Amino acid sequence: MTLQKSTTLLIVGGGPGGYVAALRAAQQGIATVLVEGSGVGGTCLNVGCIPSKALIHASAEFHRATRYGQKTSPLGITTAAPSIDLGQTVAWKDAMVSKLTSGVNGLLRKAGVELIQGWACILDGKTVEVEHSEGLMRVQCEHLMLATGSQAVALPHLPFGGDVLSSTQALSLAQVPTRFAVIGAGYIGLELGMAYARLGSQVTIVEASNRLLPGYDADLVKPVEASLKALGVQLQLSCSVKGFEAQTNTLSWTGPDSAEGRGQFDKVLVAVGRHPFTKGFGLESLQLAMNGKAIRVDDQCRTSMHQVWAIGDVTGEPMLAHRAMAQAEVAVDVIAGKNRHFMPASIPAVCFTDPEIVTAGITPEQATALGIDCITGIFLFAANGRAMTMEASTGFVRVVARRDNHAILGWQAVGEGVAELVSTFGLSLEMQSRLEDIAGTIHAHPSLGEALQEAAFHALGRGLHR
Ligand code: FAD
Ligand code: NAD
Repeated sequence: MTLQKSTTLLIVGGGPGGYVAALRAAQQGIATVLVEGSGVGGTCLNVGCIPSKALIHASAEFHRATRYGQKTSPLGITTAAPSIDLGQTVAWKDAMVSKLTSGVNGLLRKAGVELIQGWACILDGKTVEVEHSEGLMRVQCEHLMLATGSQAVALPHLPFGGDVLSSTQALSLAQVPTRFAVIGAGYIGLELGMAYARLGSQVTIVEASNRLLPGYDADLVKPVEASLKALGVQLQLSCSVKGFEAQTNTLSWTGPDSAEGRGQFDKVLVAVGRHPFTKGFGLESLQLAMNGKAIRVDDQCRTSMHQVWAIGDVTGEPMLAHRAMAQAEVAVDVIAGKNRHFMPASIPAVCFTDPEIVTAGITPEQATALGIDCITGIFLFAANGRAMTMEASTGFVRVVARRDNHAILGWQAVGEGVAELVSTFGLSLEMQSRLEDIAGTIHAHPSLGEALQEAAFHALGRGLHR
């Protein structure tokens, strides 16, 4: 027998987009059902942002201890040669994931969201069928919100399985691989490739483009390149992967000028991007307007069908958790009758490499391409006292502003710990700050944040510590 249920808002997918939408809707008194086929928290909490940052942290700690073990620390610290039990690291990471996902489950319960655990199949714009533990359930709704996320792109000649891993498997290995290949030098390839290099793997990165992190400006990537070199990571740029011979664990590729390359690897991580998750659950039947592989939405997260909404990765780039959450807030407010639009001044991005890279707003090149006459200010961490005390004097903060009225257009930074500066970057853009606002704000000393004030001073032609 098919169970029947009806609700005002039905959300498919319980990642950062879907669960935030469900909480916000319930807080506004909207009857809400959330359907999740796997784990609440989605990619981000279960197999994405949080587990990857946990592994990156563990690798940084291990690497620091290894440096001390080599008796080269100028701090005078020595330790015995460290070792790592990756199984224990993964268990620590899993416990953290479990704590966070239970927390989200608790919040949903407290808010009165009805969570249905099961895979949703869309029948039409108002009806979804879910197969769950008690059988088949048919849910009717006034508003349908699609928050189904994204999935890793597989290479046709290198399908996932065995020793060919997606990021999900790479986050739960039992042992540190001796030789680790990474296909793709984007976010995941560099974050996890560097983590395994710091854990002791010999890492080779094979990238199709002629540079690392093709989406980031070259000056920001240089310190990361230097760090990869210091870690002994082999870079194979402008390469196209040919295949993986499973019996001999041999990966082969073609490089520039058709040069053939090959190597033996215990594990191969394929990280060549993610695609919106739109197939296999009846979405095709709605015939929604698409934007490439993503569902097309307007600035209120409306799709081309009345009262069908979409948020998060399924709506395309940038596929970031904080964008999904921000879209969720807007879409729910619109459903609740408020006049909201998703028009952020910036969607900041952080790449958790060593050192970290942060961007918010536009670069000088982007400003020029837009025909905006801009000025820039830069401050190097080499001249920042706090950075020196942290042995983190690599990198810089750069600010971009309009020449005529000094309105800030963008921030870029690279350096250890700069991820924590991103909120200030975002806030200054959202508040439409001028260089004078940042220059006139007292920044506590010693802190990495002083580099923002110094960058603003520099842009205003009155650099202090440079
Ligand atoms: P998802 O989190 O993918 O959630 C979608 C949910 O929908 C899933 O739980 C899925 O099971 C469910 N679902 C799909 N179809 C159905 C169906 N038919 N029925 C029921 N349930 C369904 N972003 C950052 O901002 N910062 C980071 O540091 C970061 N690190 C990352 C690291 C890795 C390794 C990866 C893979 C991603 C990372 N991301 C990061 C990206 C981030 O995870 C995504 O942008 C974010 O999770 C998108 O949220 P979402 O709600 O749109 O989708
Ligand atoms: P990505 O788009 O960041 O990078 C993919 C890389 O693979 C690019 O450099 C591309 O040139 C390369 N590539 C594509 N096809 C290739 C091929 N056939 N052979 C070799 N190289 C190839 O994608 P990703 O690293 O898989 O990450 C997916 C998404 O997840 C990101 O775009 C981002 O939205 C999200 N993410 C964010 C964070 C973060 O915010 N810190 C971390 C991880 C993932």
